[in-house]
Amino acid sequence: MLAGEGGWLERSKVVAHCLLIEAGGELVLVDTGFGTADCADPKRIGHAFRAFSVPIFDEAETATRQIEALGLAPGDVRHVVTTHLDADHAGGLGDFPDAQVHVFGAELAAAEHPGVRDRSRYAKAQWAHGPHWVEYGPGGDRWFGFESIRLLPDLDAEIALIPLPGHSTGHCGVAVNTPDGWLLHCGDAFFHRGELETPMRCPRGWRIFQNVNQHDGEARHRNQERLRGLRQEVGDEVTMICSHDPEMLEAAQREPAAA
Ligand SMILES: [Zn+2]
Repeated sequence: MLAGEGGWLERSKVVAHCLLIEAGGELVLVDTGFGTADCADPKRIGHAFRAFSVPIFDEAETATRQIEALGLAPGDVRHVVTTHLDADHAGGLGDFPDAQVHVFGAELAAAEHPGVRDRSRYAKAQWAHGPHWVEYGPGGDRWFGFESIRLLPDLDAEIALIPLPGHSTGHCGVAVNTPDGWLLHCGDAFFHRGELETPMRCPRGWRIFQNVNQHDGEARHRNQERLRGLRQEVGDEVTMICSHDPEMLEAAQREPAAA
């Protein structure tokens, strides 16, 4: 039901797609997936999430271990940018305790004081170590017609938060200017590559999942429609990826800039 192929009860592969940006001598990580502490103690993530998603808690797949495997030092990750703070995105924050964690203020507020319907999505233990939060409000910049907030202007990389609320309260995309054009990490603003197509195409399982897990359905649909418009208008200038589509991860790993 998630892959759009195979038997209805067959398991589908889902990924948590993080970005590592090399900017001068510093590293910037966009989202952290699950972290080493999640692998050591999966119970710190809610039961409902684990029962549905059945995550593979393999420490070798955590961002910090993958950065080491690239021959880089996790300690050089000075900045983490978060699309949102769901348990499958914020689990590795504790692996980068000295980094500044850039977050949209509305998302941090929702994660720290979740309403009833948002309670099961966040795992407060993932930030119990006290990250160095850097919060942002609505921005005044524009990026291809979207509201945007420029991050880290002193860094040798152009990175911006693009508010795309709906999936969660303060959900954002992250735009990165690469040598091959703009890359927009859309987080969980969509889940399947077909959702960027016009007309939109989405396997039934992801359709149900997104409806069940949305904070604001109207905003989510509106922002997804805007992303389809962006793709139609400037699809050759902007590459869009989401967090959980495995084919998008594999395609990005084949492209040097995104990899
Ligand atoms: Zn997610």
